[in-house]
Amino acid sequence: MQILDGQLVSKTIKDSLKLDVAALVVEGKRPPHLAAILVGNNGASETYVGAKVKACSEIGFKSTLIRMEDSVTENKLLSVIGDLNTDPDVDGILVQLPLPKHISDEHVIMAIDPSKDVDGFHPVNAGKLVMGSPAFVSATPHGIMLLLEHYKIETKGKQAAVIGRSNIVGRPMSILLSANTNYGNSTVTLCHSHTHNLKEICLRSDIIVAALGRPGFVTGDMVKPGAVIIDVGITRVPDASKKSGFALKGDVDFPAVSPKCSYITPVPGGVGPMTIAALMKNTFTACQNNL
Ligand code: NAP
Repeated sequence: MQILDGQLVSKTIKDSLKLDVAALVVEGKRPPHLAAILVGNNGASETYVGAKVKACSEIGFKSTLIRMEDSVTENKLLSVIGDLNTDPDVDGILVQLPLPKHISDEHVIMAIDPSKDVDGFHPVNAGKLVMGSPAFVSATPHGIMLLLEHYKIETKGKQAAVIGRSNIVGRPMSILLSANTNYGNSTVTLCHSHTHNLKEICLRSDIIVAALGRPGFVTGDMVKPGAVIIDVGITRVPDASKKSGFALKGDVDFPAVSPKCSYITPVPGGVGPMTIAALMKNTFTACQNNL
């Protein structure tokens, strides 16, 4: 069994982007600029946005973090997005989800200019992905594809099970794995909470992507020997032994599954860092299109 080291691969990608940024600056161009909006003070969201801003500074991107109160109106948020859309100095815009209940995710996602939608959530980018046209691909599935590519994991002709059909992870993942591309061309079964025989589907799969947010859901008896396991789940579970009071758990029962598989992503240190690396790549692309 080999660990798919997202931390290491993410660093390699960020180091390469750092050189690309330096080259831009030598040409007299400005570095890429990511604007992130954080509404409220949800602990997990703070951590995720903090990691994105930190990655920007490591690579040499400019970043702007716009904080808004939980009570901010949807109109106010949409107007800030409108300003960022027309600001020629801003290449990428992300609004950290989840948003407070009184704000519609859909309205917010629709408000972002698709050419600055580095999270790849806008229907224009989601549609282009389905069509196989160049698009900003949602950072988590994009990051997983970069990980498969780095380790040269054969996907062509393989059976893949993707568990979870969210618009930001499972569904785009199923499209990427089934696309007629390098590291695509798998035959994909997209599973969700109404799927019957999930265990049988997993047992016949060469690749399992678990993205459902249920800690330890994929157990040893669900995995075919030699399968490739991608664990997207990140759930905070109480853990008194940790200073933070919680531990991060994936959707895969790592101790039981890892001895059976060929490759596996750890949690933490697998898909999480790759999500950041993919977001940085998307932001660099947005900047190149913008300059
Ligand atoms: P989500 O929007 O809650 O979607 C969960 C999906 O899992 C839904 O499609 C749901 O089915 C399905 N599901 C739930 N219980 C199931 C069951 N028992 N059997 C089969 N399918 C089941 O979650 P998400 O945003 O995609 O995120 C999934 C997990 O990935 C979470 O732990 C999240 O924190 C993590 N995540 C990690 C990263 C990263 O960077 N590592 C990024 C994003 C998300 P229905 O559609 O039928 O309800």
